[in-house]
Amino acid sequence: MEEYQSVWEQCLQIIKDNIDEGNFATWFQPIKAIGLKDKVLTVQVPSLYYYEWIEGNYWQLLKSAIHRVLGKEGKVEYKILVVNEQTMTLPTSGIGVVSSQDKKLNIHIDEDTDQKEIPNPFVLPGLKKLNIQSQLNKDLNFDNFIEGECNSLARAAGFAIAKDPGKTAFNPLFLYSGVGLGKTHLAHAIGLQTKIYHPDLTVLYVDADTFLQQYVEAARGNNINDFVHFYQMLDMLIIDDIQFLANKTKTQETFFHIFNHFHQKGKQIIITADKSPAEIAGFEQRLLSRFKWGLSADLQSPDRETRVRIIRNKLYRNGIDSIPEEVIEYLSCRIVTNIREIEGAIISIMAYSTLNKKKITVESAKQMIDKFVRNTAHEISIDYIQKVVCNYFNVKLEDLFTSSRKRDIVQVRQVSMHFAKKYTDLSLAQIGAQCGNKDHATVLHACRTVDNLKATDRHFKVQLEEIDKILKNS
Ligand code: ADP
Ligand code: MG
Repeated sequence: MEEYQSVWEQCLQIIKDNIDEGNFATWFQPIKAIGLKDKVLTVQVPSLYYYEWIEGNYWQLLKSAIHRVLGKEGKVEYKILVVNEQTMTLPTSGIGVVSSQDKKLNIHIDEDTDQKEIPNPFVLPGLKKLNIQSQLNKDLNFDNFIEGECNSLARAAGFAIAKDPGKTAFNPLFLYSGVGLGKTHLAHAIGLQTKIYHPDLTVLYVDADTFLQQYVEAARGNNINDFVHFYQMLDMLIIDDIQFLANKTKTQETFFHIFNHFHQKGKQIIITADKSPAEIAGFEQRLLSRFKWGLSADLQSPDRETRVRIIRNKLYRNGIDSIPEEVIEYLSCRIVTNIREIEGAIISIMAYSTLNKKKITVESAKQMIDKFVRNTAHEISIDYIQKVVCNYFNVKLEDLFTSSRKRDIVQVRQVSMHFAKKYTDLSLAQIGAQCGNKDHATVLHACRTVDNLKATDRHFKVQLEEIDKILKNS
């Protein structure tokens, strides 16, 4: 028996004594030891699913077993069989070994990554720049961010930034889209990739809500200077969902100073939001104009081919290879606008097959997908209505927010108002405000016009019905 095998055998004995038989058989027996070097035991796991499960649930147990057998310096490294004998190394969170291969594979574990509660670092006395935790999630990397026409500009800009942060024309990079289309994922990916190219740079990911809370906390403790100083220490700031700062004048003002500092020093800022700088509400003009200094790029809904690739990738990453083609097709047609929901549906299919130990059939999968879609049937938002209507009439979304009196634009605006009244809880005044700053009388007039036209123009009526169908099927 090779040394690595006997080491693993001893570990297994320890592990066996500490968990029940079923879990031992499920999670540990399928693992093979394949090497031992410098107290690093390399084990091969059957799939990513196993790896994530062990890292999530058993790393402490595994760690203490390894330490008992190999001593305190003992470490473990995971490999996964990719294709034909080729293996890929996976990052470890618990026992912490990063092999040089990781960089090549773009799977990067940031030593700082710690998904626990975000500490409030700027209040620590004597905080050194080196100690700032990046808050990046290593799973949201470029490798598993599938490229499609829907995101190619944003992705390419992100990659360019990672190579040369602060030195491209894309500063700030302003990423925007509706929910579940990959802003957060891409933002993390850029941060992780930056750390790969420039390990010395201090990158911080923060969502605007946390930023806001930190600010409030700092203001309460009279520590605004520390707060600002903390942010100014960074080399790259990624701030997610900036819309949370809407109408927070004080926080915006402080962000404005931080922003200026970054820009002057040629340091990179990445901002994400649910709307473009032109549409986002509740921000000071001087901030809005700065948002437009660099590149604004939107993430659109993926086309069908991209959806299929996203689904395949997700299944592959979870070690599932037995889903019938037809199910993938079905899923890709059934959920069209939100990648997060696609993932949700995949998880329910996986859970079903794992828990019931059943093979996934086309029928069972379809039922599950339908159920999933029904359960998540969301309310239809005005943003979504506007997108659908513009798309349908082939009008640019931006035009909707102008005061253009061109006939086709006016019509799109009126139809959007009509559906917003029908499907949202917004008041007429609120609808008007979100359709290019119109007042409630204009909205009322629009709704009447649409009703009249619908009653007199057959063609228009059919168009409305088609749009209605699209909205309801989303
Ligand atoms: P947003 O921040 O825009 O609401 P997220 O970044 O949270 O969206 O994305 C929602 C989910 O979809 C995440 O789990 C993310 O990993 C996944 N996702 C989004 N875009 C892609 C993509 N292009 N390829 C693979 N997965 C994606
Ligand atoms: Mg997000």
